[in-house]
Amino acid sequence: MDLKDSTDQAAFRDEVRAFIREHGAKAKMPAREDFESGWSREARDRQKGWREAIVDKGWVAPAWPKEYGGAGMSAVEQFILNEEFAENGLNNVGGFGVMMIGPTLMVHGSEEQKQEHLPKILRGEVVWCQGWSEPGAGSDLASLQTRATRDGDEYVLNGQKIWTSGAQHADWMYMLARTDPDAPKHRGISLLMFPMTSPGVSVRPLINMADNAGFNEVFFEDVHVPVKNRVGEENRGWYVGMTLTDFERSGIGSAVGTQRQLERILRHAKERPSEQTVLDKNKSWRLQMADRWVEADIARLFSYRNITIQARSMVPNHEASMSKLFTSELGQRIAATNLKLYGLHGTIWDRAREEAEHGMAAGGYLGAVSSSIAGGTSEIQRNIIATRGLGLPRG
Ligand SMILES: Cc1cc2nc3c(=O)[nH]c(=O)nc-3n(C[C@H](O)[C@H](O)[C@H](O)COP(=O)(O)OP(=O)(O)OC[C@H]3O[C@@H](n4cnc5c(N)ncnc54)[C@H](O)[C@@H]3O)c2cc1C
Repeated sequence: MDLKDSTDQAAFRDEVRAFIREHGAKAKMPAREDFESGWSREARDRQKGWREAIVDKGWVAPAWPKEYGGAGMSAVEQFILNEEFAENGLNNVGGFGVMMIGPTLMVHGSEEQKQEHLPKILRGEVVWCQGWSEPGAGSDLASLQTRATRDGDEYVLNGQKIWTSGAQHADWMYMLARTDPDAPKHRGISLLMFPMTSPGVSVRPLINMADNAGFNEVFFEDVHVPVKNRVGEENRGWYVGMTLTDFERSGIGSAVGTQRQLERILRHAKERPSEQTVLDKNKSWRLQMADRWVEADIARLFSYRNITIQARSMVPNHEASMSKLFTSELGQRIAATNLKLYGLHGTIWDRAREEAEHGMAAGGYLGAVSSSIAGGTSEIQRNIIATRGLGLPRG
């Protein structure tokens, strides 16, 4: 396999590197509080300079077609952009707006919806959250029960969502609600959008076991949503929702991030005074670290495979699940390896103490647990690989 850039790709990579050299410093590295607060508005504001530089360059939505204000990049250019950003620990600024609801509006939205929302998403003005999961509907999402009852030119919404990332800071939500309770479960769902300030919406933060306020419960009590805020046809929301394609499915961001994380752990291992580490007492730690290093390379190769599929204008399917499964579980193994580096100090989880990265090693270990649940659990990924990849019957 030839992984070298073509001449054009190399020129584009140089352009991205020059952009990062000029503007990268404006992206203030997120503080621990930024993670713990679930990216508050203040945390976002600290990234303002970086966001504006990307907006001016027209790179907020690399994969969107130019007619909608995107950069119209090929899959490979997009990959190069994300790879270079990730190499430098930088994020793009789009969030759910660019990745999810924007592309959906392009395909299924009315002209009015596109005019209203796409420019604001591109300017990073509106923060979106995704109301999919409910207490009784996660992996089996089509079982969702939140009701939207039609009343003239409005829907009246009642029910509850859960695990809604960033809802406490979001301006708008897009969500799935049941509009026909008598239809077969996939056929009675519609996709609605509304401001989080709508009367009847209340948000209750959930603190995860790593003490981060990343996600929330969201309750709806007689929330009035104009019918014009429905995306696509009534009762076809399941199919509209399922076209919410992540335009950057390769997973390169997390694969590169994984390698950066390992480099950081290695640096710490070499810098720490030996009495605070297990480095020279526990040879098995070195072997673990070597395993993680090999696995990080494998994660990167999964990304290259996905991008090769996309470059042929195909959509990675069970291949994306393989990458997600491997990379999210690798993140957990890395967090465990990092924790072990500090021996008993690894159990200290207090930012006022300097041991174990001010408690970050323990916090990271706890935080990593959710990665194999978010975005589809590992079991669901394995089911996809077994059925679509290996052709095995459904269990
Ligand atoms: C950090 C984080 C952020 C999230 N952000 C959002 C968000 O912004 N918006 C949103 O809507 N949701 C969000 N979620 C929710 C996430 O999508 C769900 O947690 C996930 O889909 C699993 O659903 P569940 O929690 O209901 O678990 P369940 O579906 O109840 O699963 C429980 C267990 O059963 C297993 N299981 C279920 N079905 C099968 C099966 N068919 N075969 C084998 N095993 C099975 C699962 O793997 C799991 O181990 C987030 C979750 C996390 C952890």
